[in-house]
Amino acid sequence: MAVSTRPERGAFPSAARADGKPIPNYIGGSWTPSLAAESLPLTNPATGESLGRVPLGTAADIDRAVQAAQAAFPKWRGTPPVVRARYLFKVKQLFDEHFDELSAIVTQENGKTLDEARGSVRRGIENVEHACGIPALMMGQTLEDVATGIDCEYVRQPMGVFAAITPFNFPAMVPLWFWPYAIATGNCYIVKPSEQVPLSQQRMFELVHEAGLPPGVMNLVHGGKDAVNAICAHPGITGVSFVGSTAVAKHVYTTAAASGKRVQALGGAKNHVIVMPDCDLERTTAVVTESIFGCAGQRCLAGSVIVATGKAYGPIKDRLIAAAKSLTMGYGLEPGVVLGPLVSRAHRDRVVKMIDQGTKDGADLALDGRGATVAKYPEGAFLGPTIFDGVTPKMTIGKDEIFGPVASIAKAADLDEALELVHASPYANATSIFTSSGKTAREFRYRAGVSMIGVNIGVAAPMAFFPFGGTKSSFFGDLKAHGTDSVQFFTDKKVVISRWF
Ligand code: NAD
Repeated sequence: MAVSTRPERGAFPSAARADGKPIPNYIGGSWTPSLAAESLPLTNPATGESLGRVPLGTAADIDRAVQAAQAAFPKWRGTPPVVRARYLFKVKQLFDEHFDELSAIVTQENGKTLDEARGSVRRGIENVEHACGIPALMMGQTLEDVATGIDCEYVRQPMGVFAAITPFNFPAMVPLWFWPYAIATGNCYIVKPSEQVPLSQQRMFELVHEAGLPPGVMNLVHGGKDAVNAICAHPGITGVSFVGSTAVAKHVYTTAAASGKRVQALGGAKNHVIVMPDCDLERTTAVVTESIFGCAGQRCLAGSVIVATGKAYGPIKDRLIAAAKSLTMGYGLEPGVVLGPLVSRAHRDRVVKMIDQGTKDGADLALDGRGATVAKYPEGAFLGPTIFDGVTPKMTIGKDEIFGPVASIAKAADLDEALELVHASPYANATSIFTSSGKTAREFRYRAGVSMIGVNIGVAAPMAFFPFGGTKSSFFGDLKAHGTDSVQFFTDKKVVISRWF
C-alpha cells in the first residue's frame, strides 16, 4: 500500500518554483518553458503565501503539444494494450508512493482540507486502477454468419489526440477522469489544468515522466481561455473533455463540436437534498452538513438547496444551524480543521455578493458567515458557514450555483412538491433523498430527472467504474466521464464484414 512522503520543502509545494519564473509545460517528454508572454501569480488561499506563477499559454503552446502527441501516436497505438496498461500500473505505484505529498499540494493550492484532498486523490487514482483493465474493457464483438458464410466484427481503435480542460475544485482528480482511459486505449493526450491550481498536475506529470511513458503520449500545457480556445479549434485534436462552469461548458461544447470534435462537457450544478419527516435525523444532519460544507461547498455534487419536507422542517433546520456553527475553519493542513478557505479572495467576494443578493431577495439569513475570520491567517479567503431559510426557486440563491459554504433551506409539503423544486432547476447534476422508507426512496429515484441520485447519501459521487455526469445545463454531450463510457468516448468502433471465397 501507499508509502507516505510529506512535502519536501515544508509549506512550499514540491512542484512550485521559488525563483519567480512561471512553471514550465511538459511537451514531448521534456519540461519546456511556455511561449506565453503573460503569467499569473499563484497563491495559497489559506495563508496568502505566494506559490509562484503560472504561464497563460497560447495557441502556439497548444500546437507544440499537438505535434508532439501526433508524432507519438502511430507507435503508441501499435503498443499492445497489455503493455500500455503496464505503464499505468507504474503510474499508479508512483501516485501511491507520493500520495501524501500530492494530497498536501491539493490543499496548498486549492484550500480544501488534507482529508478532503486525500479522498480526492484516492478517487483519482482509482481511475488509473480501472484503466489498467483496458485489455478486457476495450474488446470488440464478433458475430458469425450474419449471412451464410459472412462474419461481422467490430474492433475498438484509438483515434489520435485528445485533450482535457479542467476546473479549480479538484486539481488532482478531475484530469484522472479522462487521461488514463484515453492513453490506455492507445490515444495521446494533452491536459490543460485550471490556471488557478496547476501545481498538482505539475507534480503528477513529474511522476508520469518517471513512469517512463514514451515522449509525446502525455503532455501538459498551462493556460487560461486562449489555450482553451486553441484546443477547441485545433484540427489535430480529435476530442475534448471539459469540466467547469456551465457557461464555459456550453462554449467549449459548441466551438469544439463546430470543428468536428467529439466533446463531453460537464458543467455546473444546483443540487437539491430532500429531507423527509421519516429520516434518521441525527445521521441525516451529519451527512447533509458534510455535503453542504465539505470542500467549502466547492463541489459539483455539494448539497445546495435543502428541501425540508412536511414535519422535517423545524427539526432539520435547527440541527443544521447547530452543526454548521460547530465546524472548525482554518488552514486545511492543520489538524482538526474541517472547513478550509475558498479557492481565492476573488471567488470569496463573488460568493459574498450572492449572499448579499439573497438578503435583498427576501430570504431569511439564519446563519451569516460573512464576518468569520481565522486570526492566524488574516490573508486567507475564508467564509464561514452560511444558511438561508425561506428560499424559493425564483431567488438568485435558489436557482444559481453559489459554489461556497452556503445552504438554502426551502419548504415542501410532500415528495411531489419536493420533486417540483428539483425539476424547476435548470441544472440536473445530483440530488439526494433522506428517508427510512424504501417505497419513498424508490419513487424518488424513479421520478427524479437528475443523473446522479443519493439515497441517504449526501454526495452521490459515482466511482471510477460507473459513469459520472449530469443532464440539462449540467452536461453537454452524450458519453459521460469515466466508467465504460470513457472507453467508448476514446475509441472508434470499426466494423469489419468478411467473406472468404
Ligand atoms: P471555469 O468554467 O471557470 O473553468 C474551467 C476551465 O475553463 C479552466 O481550465 C479555465 O481555464 C477555462 N476557462 C475559464 N473561463 C473561460 C473562458 N471564458 N473561455 C474559455 N475557457 C475558460 O470553472 P471553475 O470555476 O474552474 O470550476 C468550477 C465549476 O466547475 C463549477 O461550476 C462546478 O460545478 C464545475 N464542476 C463541474 C463538475 C461536474 O462533474 N459537472 C465537476 C467539477 C466542477
